[in-house]
Amino acid sequence: MVKKLHLLCACSLAAAMCFSSAYADNVIRVGTEATYAPFEFMDDEAKPQGYDIDIITAIGEAMGYEVQVQNMPFDGLIPALMTSQIDAVIAAMTITPERAQRVDFSEPYYKSGLSVLIREADKDKYTSLESLKGQPLCAQIGTTGAMKADELSGGNAKSFNTEPEAFMELKAGGCEGVVNDRPVNLYYLATAASEGVVEMSEMITAEDYGIAVAKGNTEMKQVIDEGLKKIRENGTFAKIHQKWFSVAE
Ligand code: GLN
Repeated sequence: MVKKLHLLCACSLAAAMCFSSAYADNVIRVGTEATYAPFEFMDDEAKPQGYDIDIITAIGEAMGYEVQVQNMPFDGLIPALMTSQIDAVIAAMTITPERAQRVDFSEPYYKSGLSVLIREADKDKYTSLESLKGQPLCAQIGTTGAMKADELSGGNAKSFNTEPEAFMELKAGGCEGVVNDRPVNLYYLATAASEGVVEMSEMITAEDYGIAVAKGNTEMKQVIDEGLKKIRENGTFAKIHQKWFSVAE
């Protein structure tokens, strides 16, 4: 029966029916890319952890859904949504006009923005975005950071599957800066692995994270938005923020 329904999904134009069959058993299949601490990362037992994982789990609990998290490459998340392999994406994903043409987003749940990491030895050389113009820059593939790196470097940017690989490339001298979400940069700077790396003080953008669902899946969007509202109201959202960022929102 389940198989039949999925088959129907693939062929049917009745989108609403298709979407509801995917989580009729009260399971939300959520995609993430778990190398992005503190938002999502694997713990020692290879279990996804982080701010985003706590948020989506709390939303599921508030709405009576079990949340099953799947790990996949960042640039595979939207395609997985579009082919109904998953029902939602939580991956520190910025709401952008380009993405909003392909997926629908929940209400914003986190305010972020890009910053640039450079080697400490270069801190007098690179003091502004202007000074980085035309320089080779690193970023994670398919991200807003990669777009900005491409723009600043004049097409001279290198993309990596994960952010830790981009950080390593910077340390190894393969690029002059890493363009990435500031909270993730700050988290990295607080670890021993970041020795010799500093943040350029100029913040580049302000961005909002959203939880993505398939285009037109109003049912799932409603579940998520209502869940977000509930956990904001019952204090869970604030607790999760405090847990991961040690400050109030
Ligand atoms: N916020 C950035 C984006 O949406 C980076 C996300 C990520 O690397 N997980 O493109």
